[in-house]
Amino acid sequence: MLYNQVQDLKGTIRVYCRVRPFLQGHTNGQSTVDYIGENGNIMILNPLKQGKDARKVFSFNKVFGPTVSQEQIYEDTRPLIRSVLDGFNVCIFAYGQTGSGKTYTMSGPDLTTEQTWGVNYRALRDLFQISKERADVVKYEVGFTLTTNTLDIRNNSQLNGLNVPDASWVPVASTQDVLDLMRTGQKNRAVGATALNERSSRSHSILTIHVYGKELVSGSILKGCLHLVDLAGSERVDKSEAVGDRLKEAQHINKSLSALGDVISALAQKSAHIPYRNSKLTQVLQDSLGGQAKTLMFVHISPEVNSIGETISTLKFAERVA
Ligand code: ADP
Ligand code: MG
Repeated sequence: MLYNQVQDLKGTIRVYCRVRPFLQGHTNGQSTVDYIGENGNIMILNPLKQGKDARKVFSFNKVFGPTVSQEQIYEDTRPLIRSVLDGFNVCIFAYGQTGSGKTYTMSGPDLTTEQTWGVNYRALRDLFQISKERADVVKYEVGFTLTTNTLDIRNNSQLNGLNVPDASWVPVASTQDVLDLMRTGQKNRAVGATALNERSSRSHSILTIHVYGKELVSGSILKGCLHLVDLAGSERVDKSEAVGDRLKEAQHINKSLSALGDVISALAQKSAHIPYRNSKLTQVLQDSLGGQAKTLMFVHISPEVNSIGETISTLKFAERVA
């Protein structure tokens, strides 16, 4: 990693848009993605509108089309991951409606196939790899915490079936350690798979990787932190369908996502006041949003015509923070 590139990314907010492919069995549907440019532009075709109102262009740092591989996605994320070992705090978010590919980007569809690994495991692999390469100069320790955040009154002691109390520290020595933990989690998960899927769209999952480095000669300490956040689904919940706890939960999610949007957009505009205190999510991540920290948001869209409303509101949200 070139030092200059790291400097360029410091304090900045990047937004990458990823378009999910059509799912198996639905490959010949009409796509709302009309065109993806080389320069981070994407043109959306709204079949519900006529004439010049039907097409709208949105601009981001990058746009990844439906054929882009997990490896290619990670290539553009890697510089941020490396900077965690230099003592930076980094936040990577996956935003989008349920089913748009957030978990695919962050975790991947299948832990047993390395080729499909998402950002989380590739990031861990890099962190361990680089810390080994630097072992003569810096002694690193790596650990992670898992947090899920739905309603504050809930006790979220499980993430993907892992029995991990809220924000508990798990020391790890290799990617394998992490995979073993996740696999154990997946076994337990078979039982309540539907319930967990349901819940994953209604809560934020935060995997936090802490890195402590001690420079062997000077004895000075480096501290870096990487938050990998699979956000709750951004779709608006129909008030007529949701009642009681379900409605409260939906309102809580909408509130925390818009609070996150407010914080990132205030940071992007270098505003004097950053409204961290408006949600628990932004409070938890406060130290890693703004200042010297680096932020990357992957916004996900589904290409299907029946998602057009959510696609447009997702892209509008993303443009606001870009
Ligand atoms: P979300 O977490 O946003 O609810 P998922 O990541 O679970 O969405 O994705 C929904 C479905 O689409 C899953 O079956 C997933 O495997 C598939 N999918 C998502 N993104 C891709 C992609 N880039 N390539 C292939 N399949 C994908
Ligand atoms: Mg998901």
